[in-house]
This record gives sequence, C-alpha cells and structure tokens, in this order.
Amino acid sequence: MRKYVIMGPQGSGKGTQAKLMTSDLDIAHISVGDILRWNVSHYTKLGAQVRRLMARGELVGDDLVQSLVASRMSRHDWNHGFVVDGFPRNLAQAEFFLESYDLDGVINLDMPDEEVKRRVLARRLCSQCGLDYNLIASRPRRKDRCDACGGKLVTREDDTPEALDARLKEYRDKTQPVIDIFSRKEFVAAIDATAGIEEVQADIRRQLDLPPMGQDGSEDGPSDDDDPGSDD
Ligand code: AMP
Repeated sequence: MRKYVIMGPQGSGKGTQAKLMTSDLDIAHISVGDILRWNVSHYTKLGAQVRRLMARGELVGDDLVQSLVASRMSRHDWNHGFVVDGFPRNLAQAEFFLESYDLDGVINLDMPDEEVKRRVLARRLCSQCGLDYNLIASRPRRKDRCDACGGKLVTREDDTPEALDARLKEYRDKTQPVIDIFSRKEFVAAIDATAGIEEVQADIRRQLDLPPMGQDGSEDGPSDDDDPGSDD
C-alpha cells in the first residue's frame, strides 16, 4: 500500500503530479478542491455553501472538509493506496488526518510566490469539458477555445490576483506549519516544482523510491470516472 499526501501552493502542479502518479501506480487521487469544485458546478447544497468562500480564495470550514474527506476515504477504493491533494491545509486538519490514517510519505512541491502568480494567472479551463490550459506552457491552438471540444476557455473563479494573494497568505500562514509537523513524523520529499512536469515527477518517484513512470504493472491505471473534475 502506498499512502501519500501532496502539498504545495496553488499552481505548483499538485493535481498534475498526483494524476501522473495515479496513472500507472494504481492508487487513488483524492482531491478536496476537485470534489468542492464539482459540487459548485453541479449546484449542490454543499456547493452553495462553499462557492463564495472558494471564489475569495478562503479556506472552507474544517468540519465540512473533514467530513468530506472521511466520507471519500470510507469508499475504500484505494486498495493499493492514495495520493491526497489539497488536504490537510491547517493544523486541525492535519491532526484529524493523522488520527485516522498513516502515511508513507509527504510530497512538498516548493515554488516561490512570484512563479506561483505567473503560472496561476495564466491558467484557463474549458467551460465544457474541464480540460486545463496554461497560456505560458500549454496554449490552446485557437485563442480562447478548447482543442478537444471547442468549448470556451474561462478563468477559474478563484484565479484572480486578489483571491490568489489571499490563498498564498493562507498557504504560508496555515499550511506551511503542517509541513513542519509532517517533517517531524513522516518522510517529507522536498521537490523543486519549478522544473518541467516530467522532471518533477521523476524527482518525486526517485525520492519516494517508486518505480519510474510506466514501469509498475498496468499502463492503463484506474478509471478516472469517479474523479469529479480535475485541476490543482
Ligand atoms: P485547491 O484546488 O486545492 O487549490 O482548492 C481550491 C479551494 O477549495 C481552496 O482555495 C479552498 O477554498 C477550498 N479547499 C480545498 N481544500 C481545502 C481544505 N483542505 N480546507 C479548506 N478549504 C479547502
């Protein structure tokens, strides 16, 4: 069983790296942000509760996310392990998590604020199929249109300069101390997230003693059907 948490500021590539890990290691990707965004875009009751906070870049209440994580984990579709992305984000959440689950490692994607801002403000999302683009690294072929389905590309509601500042402050004030706690108890792999996507993935696998991409059994990996949306 391989059990990891991936941490890092917005735009550091948590979702991208978690997905690359799950693509061939047969472990589940559990992203709290994706679950919340799915609820917002499907107008659920929970979505209505969190929409405003998320748009402002603020953290959603601990009780709510903790029960969301507990209920997602209770599906036990992670026989071979998991990568939890976006949780825990503060000390209370870390305590809650460590009471119930043990970890094999914590991946800490390190990225300076200036690079975070450059990347996040260039991020676009297809309003129809959810595919993500970056106007710096992965531009669409046609301006403002999705290569896959032709849908209109939009900016994530919380990718504004104001919300990003709030999210970065939350991250440095509340999430960074969690990494300090993990450093005392678990193995923390410190990763330079400014490198290219494949290089970052290779570094993660090297540090966690995982097989290189595509060398751990099935290439197909688990179905992503249950993964509501995708981003980081
Ligand atoms: P993310 O996609 O991980 O950047 O999360 C997007 C937004 O979802 C955050 O800015 C928060 O508003 C909310 N969120 C995600 N994970 C958590 C969490 N563990 N605790 C509180 N709020 C969260």
